Amino acid sequence: MNTPIAIIGSGMAGLSAAHALAAAGLNVQLFDKSRGSGGRMSSKRCDVGDLDLGAQYFTARDRHFVEAVRQWQENGWLAEWKPALYQSQGGQLSLSPDTQQRFVGVPRMSALTRQLLGDLPATFACRITEVFRGERHWHLVDADGQSHGPFSKVVVAVPAPQAVALLSAAPKLASAVASATMEPVWAVALSFARALDTPVEGCFVQDSPLDWLARNRSKPGRAVGMDSWVLHASSAWSRQHLDLPREAVIEQLRCAFAELLGCAVPEADFALAHRWLYARPAQGHQWGALADADLGLYVCGDWCLSGRVEGAWLSGQEAARRLLEHAA
Ligand code: FAD
Ligand code: NAD
Repeated sequence: MNTPIAIIGSGMAGLSAAHALAAAGLNVQLFDKSRGSGGRMSSKRCDVGDLDLGAQYFTARDRHFVEAVRQWQENGWLAEWKPALYQSQGGQLSLSPDTQQRFVGVPRMSALTRQLLGDLPATFACRITEVFRGERHWHLVDADGQSHGPFSKVVVAVPAPQAVALLSAAPKLASAVASATMEPVWAVALSFARALDTPVEGCFVQDSPLDWLARNRSKPGRAVGMDSWVLHASSAWSRQHLDLPREAVIEQLRCAFAELLGCAVPEADFALAHRWLYARPAQGHQWGALADADLGLYVCGDWCLSGRVEGAWLSGQEAARRLLEHAA
């Protein structure tokens, strides 16, 4: 049996790398600090139904990703989302239909990453704090001081600011990764027992604290009970209000939402706020993935490319490609 490869992070990038390496016959072991896979594609299970608080949908442009999406769709893991799409600019709301295909996991975004995880070996609720190399192999230490290993190679698939701390074995790699900064996003979910009187199902927003909003039940496979909405604040607003109490975030974004829709928006029957500290890269890169191949340390994530689900998948593929190329 070959010595396994450790993959830290089971978001789309880590899962993508894991699949490519496993398909090449290598053993992999995933680690994630969360209780499940998916990272920023995770969905929150609430009494009002499952809510996609992170990635809202994704598009596929690269031909390899288009092919992967086609297969996932054939497996029934995702479906096309065709919302009544609007845009709001300078307080003016207008229909903004287009021909872009957009996909969502069904019945929730995280269903896709759960399917991709399948039966790959994974350890959850395990925050890795240290990655070090012994004479021949790599070892990981988690936040409880427990060590894991040996591993032949390590793939770090976490947001750039969280990756830096895991790269002390490769200072040059660490300093390249440290140059990739990421922006926060406040996400708020509001659920109403009585549906809001608006035709809007998705909206790109400018000139507002908000940057995006989506009506949950317009997505395929979602429960239709409550009328639930997910609102995303812009990164600028989120940065300025990073430490605002959750109740105040909910209220300010609810007001922005009501102003934007121009219809009565009562107090929500259910509300929650989630702060994504590392939601999106501040700037795009064309790195694909980063590596110190001689050491056997690889880094990937959406921030290596486009800051989108597609970018995360492509980056994981690239990390795996480089690892396999070096191992050949
Ligand atoms: P992540 O999903 O962040 O995965 C990293 C994983 O590493 C996480 O599971 C985390 O728990 C784990 N981890 C971190 N540190 C450690 C550690 N020390 N030890 C163990 N585990 C660790 N993209 C789109 O294409 N369309 C959208 O509409 C869209 N909307 C978005 C809205 C929001 C609010 C956010 C936050 C993101 C959105 N994105 C969207 C971006 C998309 O979600 C990401 O590009 C993609 O999910 C990133 O995948 P990843 O694997 O690179 O990182
Ligand atoms: P996309 O092609 O639907 O959107 C790309 C961008 O084009 C949008 O952000 C929007 O500004 C604009 N746009 C597209 N269609 C529009 C329309 N009909 N009317 C008005 N504007 C329109 O999808 P993509 O390229 O896959 O991008 C993914 C989405 O993920 C983007 O909306 C991006 O902002 C979002 N995202 C959000 C975060 C976050 O943290 N909030 C992080 C990463 C990505």
